Amino acid sequence: MARNVEIKARVSNVEAMRQKAATVADKGPIEITQDDTFFRCESGRLKLRAFSSDEGELIFYRRADQQGPKESSYLLSPTSAPDTLRESLSLAYGQTGRVRKHRTLFLAGRARIHLDQVEGLGSFLELEVVLEDGETADSGIREAHILMERLGVQSTQLIQGAYVDLLAQNAFNPSTQSGPELGQERPGEIACGEKRIGNSILCGGCQCGSIRYEISRSALELYVCHCKECRKQAASAFGISVIVPRAAFRLTRGTPKFWSRATDTGHTLECAFCPDCGSRLWHQRRGTAETISVKGGSLDEPVDLRRAVHIWTSRMLPGIIVPEGAAQFPGEPE
Ligand SMILES: [Zn+2]
Ligand SMILES: [Zn+2]
Repeated sequence: MARNVEIKARVSNVEAMRQKAATVADKGPIEITQDDTFFRCESGRLKLRAFSSDEGELIFYRRADQQGPKESSYLLSPTSAPDTLRESLSLAYGQTGRVRKHRTLFLAGRARIHLDQVEGLGSFLELEVVLEDGETADSGIREAHILMERLGVQSTQLIQGAYVDLLAQNAFNPSTQSGPELGQERPGEIACGEKRIGNSILCGGCQCGSIRYEISRSALELYVCHCKECRKQAASAFGISVIVPRAAFRLTRGTPKFWSRATDTGHTLECAFCPDCGSRLWHQRRGTAETISVKGGSLDEPVDLRRAVHIWTSRMLPGIIVPEGAAQFPGEPE
């Protein structure tokens, strides 16, 4: 397998970096559009990179997640039918993410300089030094450091992780993304307690299937909320909140959009939904809250509402019956 050393850094001034790269490089710029699809893979990363409808490559690679120059090994297989291959692999293994970007490529000796504009993430500089057979990573790392210095990249700008992982992380920090945000004064969201409702891995997603997620640990609690705010978000009789640890939730496909509102406890509630079909998927409090509220109807497995705590029953729609023995509160429990 071929090997290279890579580093990645966030770039704030793309134009300035482009000019620096041009002075350092001996070839380029070459403009490339890349559409990467990632597939479920236990032993490393499997991605299909499409350049156009009749040109692409399937790439298998392994890389340690670490900041600074890192070594990775990879295997490339060219394809002339990326769309068919994507469909086959999606059916066989399932997609775990998709990254679309515009790349400006420069070559400086054996090093590749990538100036990437990644959809939904922003601008980045990536340096790749391809290693010779049998060459240790050290010389590649030295070369990468020298290039970094010449391009004026500070070590504080370095970032860890692949774009696909950054996109998944961003799903939990939409405030770090650019774009308008709609904050509105609304009554508050539900507070959390500590009650377990199950122990298995849960999967779910939106109605059209563009967005999929997995929850790796048991849910902490289950609420049915009859407040007006929940009726609006669910566009139905009540809201279902499955409270799970934030760390246990993983986006496995697609990029949601967020709509935010202020709560009456002074926080901002970020509400994730599918930009294609509009299904509401989960709510999270902006900042460091340790739990998120997954919207129960988006889970694949039916949620057992007999175990739910019913709140705001004072606002319940006429005709709704709370199961016998279920905990219920006319408002929000203390
Ligand atoms: Zn959808
Ligand atoms: Zn509610």
